[in-house]
Formats: sequence, C-alpha cells, structure tokens
Amino acid sequence: MVTRCLICNSSVVLSKDAAIAIARLIGTLDGFLQGVQQSTAKRQAIASDADAALRPLERAFNLMVDGLAGAACSWANTSDFIRDVRKHQFMEYDCLCLRCGAKYDEQPR
Ligand SMILES: [Zn+2]
Repeated sequence: MVTRCLICNSSVVLSKDAAIAIARLIGTLDGFLQGVQQSTAKRQAIASDADAALRPLERAFNLMVDGLAGAACSWANTSDFIRDVRKHQFMEYDCLCLRCGAKYDEQPR
C-alpha cells in the first residue's frame, strides 16, 4: 500500500515506524563495524603467535563476536539517535514527505 502525501501527492513518504527501523539498523551496523574495527586494531597491536595460528573461520567468528559486542555496547547511542529522529524529524506526526517536507498523521481509509 502506497501512502501519498496530503500536500504534493508524492509517493515518497516515510512513516515514523520505518524511520525508526532504519535508524535502528544504521545504529546497530555502526556499532557492529566499530566492534570489528577495534577488534582488528587490537589483534594487529598484539600480533601474538596464538592469534596468528587461528584458522580463517575462527578469525571470522571472533570478529563477528566482537562486532556483536560492539553493537550491544552502542545501544545507548542508537537509542539517542532514534529519539532524535523521532523528535526532530517527525515531532508528534506519523508521516514525513521526503519531497516537500510535509508532516502529517496518516488518514483513516
Ligand atoms: Zn509532499
């Protein structure tokens, strides 16, 4: 179902729920990538024989675990980001037109 803008009739309308889901995905990916980046930097600084002996699959698993830990640690920042998107982009409204910037609540059908 396509929601049309009440002002300009554009179909490029973002719902608040979709924006929150996108913000949550971006925040989680950011935390994951930071965890992987920190893990890689730490492993390069240490460069131990035990780490060098790891198989590629073990190394990939360790990176994923560190990435997930990074995503979990960044949850507070992600929550702040979601709150800001909700507050500054949508205020009390449910829909945002990406063409004309109109904000409005969905109309009952
Ligand atoms: Zn519009």
